[in-house]
Amino acid sequence: MTTWRSEVIEAIREIGGQGTLSQIYAAVQSRASRHLPPSWQAIVRRELEYNSADSQSHQKKHDLFYSVDGIGAGVWGLRELEMTTPEAIDIVPPERTQSSVYRILRDTEMARRVKKLHSDRCQLCGTALRLAADATYSEAHHIRPLGSPHDGPDVPGNIMVLCPTHHVLLDYGAIELNMTEINTAQGHTIDRQYIDYHNLNVARVSCGDEIDHALASGDLRGVPGGTRPAFDLIGSLRNFCRKIRENTDANTALAGYGR
Ligand SMILES: [Zn+2]
Repeated sequence: MTTWRSEVIEAIREIGGQGTLSQIYAAVQSRASRHLPPSWQAIVRRELEYNSADSQSHQKKHDLFYSVDGIGAGVWGLRELEMTTPEAIDIVPPERTQSSVYRILRDTEMARRVKKLHSDRCQLCGTALRLAADATYSEAHHIRPLGSPHDGPDVPGNIMVLCPTHHVLLDYGAIELNMTEINTAQGHTIDRQYIDYHNLNVARVSCGDEIDHALASGDLRGVPGGTRPAFDLIGSLRNFCRKIRENTDANTALAGYGR
């Protein structure tokens, strides 16, 4: 013997998972194999409300139905189909989980002062994001980052005013800096040593296959625009890094031997 509850569930399922009260009544009526009592519409409404957490009359045993457009609008749906219906229509399931990171930015007093000197205009693209008629927004970047391992200082010469996009690009070392392409403002001068620090220690610029190959073989002919000084500079930087690494290894080995 079927219950009223399962009758209502099947009726809503038949009309596609949701519908108005009159559509639900019609579906219940067409399914009925027996004579319906005079109060059957009130019974259907009672089943919807008793079994829906959206309703004041919820009996807290089952949560089978949901109010599609808010209580009183008279449109009910099956809870089990509530989440899956929109996904099936227009959302392609993502292949992997995506998470976004909210970057917390705390300005130092110095950074606030420098931002003011630039009227929030990005020193790379000139943009000042407008938040409201009387409010603009910018971010202060410490070119040689504060804190370990970089230990940059909080001084005007180490601060750059940027739009959020350029701030991310610099933080992730995606771009190099060129002193001549940086917008200036009265009262604020960037110290070149921090620009150099960024280019050498923060920016991740690949030398490219040709240069890597040329460095390995000592042959300059395959390097586009390659000059002896540039080649030597890159080579000596590479050697310098290698020596530090070897020294570290040697020190570690010696330390182990001594014990
Ligand atoms: Zn910018």
